[in-house]
Amino acid sequence: MDNSDSIRALVSVHDVMPETLEQIQALLERLTAADISAVTLLVVPGADWTPAAIDTLHDFERRGYELAGHGWRHRISRIGGLRHRLHATFISRQVAEHLALDALGIVALMKRCHAWFLEQGLRPPSLYVPPAWAMGRIERNALADLPFLQYELFSGILSAQTGRLHPMPLLGYEADTAGRTPVLRLWNRINRHRASTVGWIRIGIHPHDLDLRLAEDLKADLHRFSIHAEYGAVDAAADQRCRLVTSARSPSAADSSMSNTRSNPR
Ligand SMILES: [Zn+2]
Repeated sequence: MDNSDSIRALVSVHDVMPETLEQIQALLERLTAADISAVTLLVVPGADWTPAAIDTLHDFERRGYELAGHGWRHRISRIGGLRHRLHATFISRQVAEHLALDALGIVALMKRCHAWFLEQGLRPPSLYVPPAWAMGRIERNALADLPFLQYELFSGILSAQTGRLHPMPLLGYEADTAGRTPVLRLWNRINRHRASTVGWIRIGIHPHDLDLRLAEDLKADLHRFSIHAEYGAVDAAADQRCRLVTSARSPSAADSSMSNTRSNPR
């Protein structure tokens, strides 16, 4: 590499719940010290929220952080089949609650999640991130009826308006066992490399990451990728690219050019 000066990073903090607020506050202090204010907080509505904890969410909004929906309870009540069992063992470890549901159940969960923000007097969230980035058994077109504008999947950011997926490498630091550390480190190395061609990267932070084995890698990445964007900028950038292409060429040429550039949005 290294063209990390021109790569735009989306920074998110996962699993905002009453029991993690202390860690979240400490993370935000560190991000502020690193001059990072474009941070999206992924909130779990079905946790045991007290009025004081809800006040903290209002405070986050006042401080300019964007809140996003992140599942409902962030844990599963049952394992739904072999695929889910494998995912639970190797990736999500019992948090991918969509995988235990059918399509109707998934839609109901996401609607309940969105409604909760309004009930608490918070701004309507535009982004939804399924726990462990696992959307489950639901067709993409079923998402069009939901009130969210964007979805973050394992592979990238899906725009609800256009139905387009923007593939985007993802960095993670939840190295809570010795076995996960080398796997995550290799994964991150590959994804940093991918970011230099894609032009975007996601930095997904979990509440305890600063106390875990990849804390130094996380701090280094926050420093390495110095341009921080809001999630909404992904769609805005795609729109702009679309307009540029459309104004430069005939509409049919623009169409084919868009599909060619889909896996490489720069
Ligand atoms: Zn999560």
